[in-house]
Amino acid sequence: MALIDKPDCTSVTMLTDLHRRDVLRRLGALGITGAIGQLYSGSLFARSGEAVKGLDRLVGGEVVNRAHDRYEAWRNSMVWHLRKPERYPDAIIRAQSEQDVIAAVKYATDNGLKVSARSSGHNSTGAALRNGGLLIDLALLRGVEIDAARKTARIQPALWSEQLVQEAGKHGLAFPAAHCPTVALGGYLLGGGMGWNNAHWDGIACHAIRSADIVLAGGRKVTASADAYPDLFWAVRGAGYGFFGVVTAMELQLYPLPRAIHTSMYITPLDKLHTVFAALDELSEEKDERVEILVLLMHDPQASADTPPDQAKICMVGVNAFADTEDEARAMLAPFANSALAAASVFKLEYQPSSFEQLYNPEGLDTGIGRYMVDSIWTEEPGQSLLSLAEHFKTTQSARTHVLCAYGVKTELRTDACFSRIANHYIASYMLWNDAADDAANETWLRHTNALLQPYSKGTYINEIEATLFPERVKSSFSEESWQRLAALRKKYDPDGVFHSYPGYS
Ligand SMILES: Cc1cc2nc3c(=O)[nH]c(=O)nc-3n(C[C@H](O)[C@H](O)[C@H](O)COP(=O)(O)OP(=O)(O)OC[C@H]3O[C@@H](n4cnc5c(N)ncnc54)[C@H](O)[C@@H]3O)c2cc1C
Repeated sequence: MALIDKPDCTSVTMLTDLHRRDVLRRLGALGITGAIGQLYSGSLFARSGEAVKGLDRLVGGEVVNRAHDRYEAWRNSMVWHLRKPERYPDAIIRAQSEQDVIAAVKYATDNGLKVSARSSGHNSTGAALRNGGLLIDLALLRGVEIDAARKTARIQPALWSEQLVQEAGKHGLAFPAAHCPTVALGGYLLGGGMGWNNAHWDGIACHAIRSADIVLAGGRKVTASADAYPDLFWAVRGAGYGFFGVVTAMELQLYPLPRAIHTSMYITPLDKLHTVFAALDELSEEKDERVEILVLLMHDPQASADTPPDQAKICMVGVNAFADTEDEARAMLAPFANSALAAASVFKLEYQPSSFEQLYNPEGLDTGIGRYMVDSIWTEEPGQSLLSLAEHFKTTQSARTHVLCAYGVKTELRTDACFSRIANHYIASYMLWNDAADDAANETWLRHTNALLQPYSKGTYINEIEATLFPERVKSSFSEESWQRLAALRKKYDPDGVFHSYPGYS
């Protein structure tokens, strides 16, 4: 009985008395533990589609409920990588318009169902897939309008990063969208956003949100900006996937497109990490803020199958100069060419002309589909962090796994944004592998990685953590003050808990 009364089990509370008696009979037969699993995997009642009856008449977009034979294919497509979470919404709605979002959220509110939203499904923890309730898929909302005179873009949430970059580029403008071309701006900006050259512009990309259209509980639509609903405006800039509303559009600040982008690349053996970071520490003292440094620990693509694992890993340093003339770009890169980093390199490729668009389609970077996990820290000690990881990195179970350090992010926090954890350097461990049989080994590897990096951590980045495995890393993505304020705003704008909170939090 206690299970039936639990407010989270919203589908259960919708049952008719007849269904209820049937469920109770089966609960008795299964034992409580088995029954909870059965409830969510849907063998008891949700497959009937009863929980979302009538919804398809209210929205223009397609609705697929648990009774539908396409449900499982749709559910799987909600998460970009191949490690699909075992979580089952009652129905998935492919919204065709903002009106569909309003109708779906109102329906959920009226019927005691919970709501989650999805833009492009790139979230590693698969946060959009929850048990029960409605999942509103925004994939069709991908519009963009550029106002070149005002240097702004009005976008819908599922617009891909590369699409914004292309459209803005036509007007000589740019935006620090996600590095991977197909990551949608919706989830990316809601959780912060670290893109090319962001340190030189407004810092973390969510600072560039000028206004956001938000559908709140009950289906009420508001537009939040610095002047209207400033508390919601604060929250939408960094709350991530515990946000209590659906963002249907945003106005973004754009920036002048850098006219001359040049890059240099250095490869060193892993045992030269000490030299690499000593050189970077020295170089960063004088570096222009338009020079961006990325350090990558990775598998050597040239290593043969019989290369011993501890010799098959390398360190790659990429240096990008976002300048306006070729001379300026070359001058920005010159100190690197004359440094101890260049001297320690076994391979280098310097002063290569590139473009903002080209950076979104890098050759050789593995962003292909696979089983995927990511976790991260902000740190003031990037060299020590990676040195402490080096031996462990040689034991990666998969050759596709890599660790990235964004060196010298130098981004200010702001009081008008909920994004509230940062340090001068960022480290993320990206794990990619192919076989489900290796899931446990990879999870163990990530746990060990996080433990090794923990002494150097100044917090985590909500967009790149395994929130389901490590719920405490959600909280460590926020300052205590922001965390408390978010909780208060959730109570104010979503008192009945229509929207799912962070995974692991109710
Ligand atoms: C290959 C790859 C590359 C990446 N590169 C970068 C990068 O360069 N920089 C960076 O900062 N991050 C990067 N990320 C991380 C990325 O920013 C996050 O995973 C982000 O959550 C993905 O956004 P999404 O819209 O696909 O989220 P989804 O998976 O679609 O949704 C995740 C959650 O976000 C919330 N959400 C999404 N859209 C909305 C909306 N419109 N309204 C309300 N809530 C919403 C929901 O709570 C949802 O559960 C990358 C991820 C991948 C997989």
